Amino acid sequence: MGRFHFFFLSLLLLFIGNGCAVNPERVGGFNLISVEEEKQLGEKFAAEIEKEQKVVKDPEVQAYINRIGEKLLTGVEKVEFPYTFKVVKDDNINAFAIPGGHTYVNTGLIKAAESEDELAAVMAHEINHVVARHSTRQLTQQYGYSLLLQLVLGQDPNLLAQLASQLFGKAGSLYYSRGMESQADYLGVKTMYNAGYDPAGMEKFFQKLQAENKQEPGKLTKFLSSHPLTSERIQNVKAEIGKLPPKSFGASQASPEFSRIKAKVQQQ
Ligand SMILES: [Zn+2]
Repeated sequence: MGRFHFFFLSLLLLFIGNGCAVNPERVGGFNLISVEEEKQLGEKFAAEIEKEQKVVKDPEVQAYINRIGEKLLTGVEKVEFPYTFKVVKDDNINAFAIPGGHTYVNTGLIKAAESEDELAAVMAHEINHVVARHSTRQLTQQYGYSLLLQLVLGQDPNLLAQLASQLFGKAGSLYYSRGMESQADYLGVKTMYNAGYDPAGMEKFFQKLQAENKQEPGKLTKFLSSHPLTSERIQNVKAEIGKLPPKSFGASQASPEFSRIKAKVQQQ
């Protein structure tokens, strides 16, 4: 194929990728930012985030979150990035993954979860935003390729700090399309199942958050604004779980280890 045709095909794919619903099965997709560029951008964002937010240094908490992350990675479609997993001191119920696979779990999420499966469910969702390379696609669409490339090359440290705070800071958020959100749920269910976590934990936790939000609106504002927990979304998760062959996952109740970690996090 000539360069000219390739260029138009690329443009066409870009429009298809942005305009239509995301095919949940497809994790590749067109992306202007290369994997290598995304790794570099991720490292820069991670450094900024860790200046702004307090990473929980307790070695047992760190080892625990790492173990869950690594276990989930055994169940994803592909691992292209050097994933890291950290807990940050923030009592909002939330977790977020940035370009390059750096994944942050808020203390608030650990406090709200009742089992490792529930905690792993939100992490599985976030990891799959990285697997499907949603953040760089979304950022390219919002800011354009040349601006991102400037950030990768370290040409504008002030802008980098500002965007890190707007997109991943305590008060900010990167918003994904509904198609990307449902793909992260769809892949998250499969990841949990493959890695040995009961995907029912995702449905259960989402239902609990939805119920809590009805009781006490405002408490979950941030999580729900970036992850609207519609009944449709929960139904889709349930339907995906229903399609999976039966599998035994062992006890999904709070393990002694989970309870101990949760108690430690309560003191943070
Ligand atoms: Zn999401």
